[in-house]
Amino acid sequence: MIKKPATDRRSALKLAAAAAALAAGAVSTSRAGAQAQKTAAPDEDESPNKGRSPNFQKIPFGDARLTVISDGIREGEGPHPTFGANQPAEAVAALMRENYLPETRFSNGFNPVLIELGDQLILIDTGMGAMGRENGMGRLTRRMQRAGHKPEDVDVVVLTHLHGDHIGGLMEDGQPAFPNARYVVGKAEYDFWTSDAARSGKSAGNAELVTKNVVPLKDKITFIAEGDEVVPGLTAMEAFGHTPGHMIFELKTGDKRLWLTADTANHFVASLQRPDWEVAFDMDKAMAAETRHKVFDRVAEERIPFIGYHMPFPSIGFAARQGEGYRFIPLTYQFDVKA
Ligand SMILES: [Zn+2]
Repeated sequence: MIKKPATDRRSALKLAAAAAALAAGAVSTSRAGAQAQKTAAPDEDESPNKGRSPNFQKIPFGDARLTVISDGIREGEGPHPTFGANQPAEAVAALMRENYLPETRFSNGFNPVLIELGDQLILIDTGMGAMGRENGMGRLTRRMQRAGHKPEDVDVVVLTHLHGDHIGGLMEDGQPAFPNARYVVGKAEYDFWTSDAARSGKSAGNAELVTKNVVPLKDKITFIAEGDEVVPGLTAMEAFGHTPGHMIFELKTGDKRLWLTADTANHFVASLQRPDWEVAFDMDKAMAAETRHKVFDRVAEERIPFIGYHMPFPSIGFAARQGEGYRFIPLTYQFDVKA
């Protein structure tokens, strides 16, 4: 089945706005303009899941407060062959069917997180920025303002890795989008993306974006490795494979712990239930699979809540062991009810 891409819907909205303006005909142009504005507004405010859920969610957690913000969603063909790249299409379709998901279309969300911890406002990843805006992404700064946080209030921007959907929002018209922030980046990750190896072949396009969006901020970057603290209570862990220096983070507040697993698992069914299936986005596929097991074995065994950047909004939940992998359990009221 072929579904209309989001852009078609957008053009339809624009057409509707134009039609409304035309219909206004004899009415003054300013009213027609206002009408068009009114019709276009829901598009700007478009929520993930086509308005069925809000586009940011605040989650109190110990002495910290998390705000998960949807930068947008991208619908496309799949999950095969992006997920289960080394599997027959039918195997992936069957797993989707089993999980009540469409077999040949999927929706990918992009979910940066703000953490208020002590007196620091920390942003984890920055979304697509301007390059995603045409297609309904790049909404982070707009939506964080709606959630009550100005871009200039961000103290620290943490980049889990340097793929475009995480660094696209760093710059706005060639200027830092978070003008008062310092930055935290994995040393191995930065070294790779600024190497000659990264600048040729398949990774060249992304390396160019790193040159444009990350390198100009170099003087304000703290380079980190395994065990380093971003701020007290937020600690880095190596989770290499998706990219050569992909980092994940543990948030500790009081006796509570939460992991920010970034792109360790990118589809809540395909990557968690079948951690060994190859993922096209994983740069070292074998290492990424090994890392998925290592990280989610602990998440499951130690019952650690986690936020995954591409998990379904608000991208927070638990993982329980199931067969060869894990079952995603979205957060419901676990944090609200005192045991
Ligand atoms: Zn990503």
